[in-house]
Amino acid sequence: MTVAMPQTFADAFRIRHSARAKRLRLVVKPGLVELVAPLAANERQAQDFLARHRSWAEKKLHEMAAHQTGAAHISLSAATSLPWRGKEIPLTILDEPRRNARVELSDEACVIRLPATTLGAAREQLLDRALMTAAQKRLGVRIDYWIQRHAARYGLYPRATRIKRMKSRWGSCGPRNDLNINLLLAFVPDGVLEYVVVHELCHIRERNHGPAFWQLVALHLPEYMQQRRWLKTHGSALLQRFC
Ligand SMILES: [Zn+2]
Repeated sequence: MTVAMPQTFADAFRIRHSARAKRLRLVVKPGLVELVAPLAANERQAQDFLARHRSWAEKKLHEMAAHQTGAAHISLSAATSLPWRGKEIPLTILDEPRRNARVELSDEACVIRLPATTLGAAREQLLDRALMTAAQKRLGVRIDYWIQRHAARYGLYPRATRIKRMKSRWGSCGPRNDLNINLLLAFVPDGVLEYVVVHELCHIRERNHGPAFWQLVALHLPEYMQQRRWLKTHGSALLQRFC
């Protein structure tokens, strides 16, 4: 779903005359700024009032628009930035005379080159596939790094590690110590990925989430609560954005 929001104040603004209103007031809702005016109010009073409160209303309108886009799924073709390792990096999509998609992804920017002949839903799919393939490669390297850093400490070695795009969980540890890590963790800060890897490694010894499990996590990562909180706060927006 793409949410189109009126961006300018003029688009969003309207005046509503109300018999019940006792004084002038501004009401801001997503995409709407309403000046509620008592019938007795004259043009000049309304103008003065608006002049005094306009910047507040504009700020509010902007915040609401930003909040809505943050929470909704944005089609990749419409996106101009990408969350990457804890910050937003610019995303540029170029249509070129070429056969295959090509992704240039660094920690500073992402450029995706697409065959200009691919249109509509097929274009969106190709974009998604190209980006996710590139993201998965980089995520794999980072997961291996965190496993190497933490596995040896208490001998918690996974049998294998797989990266999967999952809608409802960040990771899991199977009965034979196979780790599954969510592909969307490619987009989170490094410390958060480290926490998820440690969490699943600790399940090799402690299968449940009892006190012994959390003690083991804390031995690896004393500050793990901070990363856990990040996932709770930002995780669902990330899932919505890409699922
Ligand atoms: Zn767990």
